[in-house]
Amino acid sequence: MTTIQNALQAVQARIARAATQCGRDPASITLLAVSKTFGPDVIRAAFGCGQRAFGESYVQEALHKMAALTDLPIEWHFIGPIQSNKTRPIAEHFAWVHSVDRERIAQRLSDQRPNSMPPLNVCLQVNVSGEASKSGVAPAEAAPLARLVASLPRLRLRGLMTIPEPSDNVNLQRRRFRLLKELKEALVAEGLPLDTLSMGMSGDLEAAILEGATIVRVGSAIFGERVKRTH
Ligand SMILES: *Cc1c(COP(=O)(O)O)cnc(C)c1O
Repeated sequence: MTTIQNALQAVQARIARAATQCGRDPASITLLAVSKTFGPDVIRAAFGCGQRAFGESYVQEALHKMAALTDLPIEWHFIGPIQSNKTRPIAEHFAWVHSVDRERIAQRLSDQRPNSMPPLNVCLQVNVSGEASKSGVAPAEAAPLARLVASLPRLRLRGLMTIPEPSDNVNLQRRRFRLLKELKEALVAEGLPLDTLSMGMSGDLEAAILEGATIVRVGSAIFGERVKRTH
């Protein structure tokens, strides 16, 4: 068995254990393999082990990998910070975007989504850590942004995403994830059709699953430690 196969199985086992612990069906949780900084060969190997959804954080890097992997029916998710001059390639090449945090970006993604493609699946990135983290919309501002995304013709509002400040404290991890879950429930209660909570990474996926994660975004636990980017 290859290293990636081993690692994928170990992560799936962690997902299944956490799901079982809180009475959830493990199949209700999607594993998004975060492949940023790793090359197309590594992605191809993971695909060969059955992995279908991959997450990327840098547009140019992702486009290069996609070009090398056009023969594989991969579901690509954009999870990185979005600059407004990079919305077009995101709209044209990804199935999902997890990191929409302002109106201008949402508007541009909808305007630039090709009509030949299905609507772009969107999660709003929410800052649940207050001062400790800078990216994401403030929880109090999520509702108006959600209403806007739901109204845009070429976007499909799916849910909320968060990256809490790193912490080894499981209670703190759960508190941050619970805030995202409660925010989603409040939006659903006002009639917005959210079905996704994108939360949990290599270090905290159990806490996220206990709080209702439907997508966990896992990089280093599958592919190993990343070498820091120099560009
Ligand atoms: C890199 C990254 C991940 C994966 O982090 P790991 O700790 O390696 O699992 C998840 N989500 C986002 C948004 C990331 O940028």
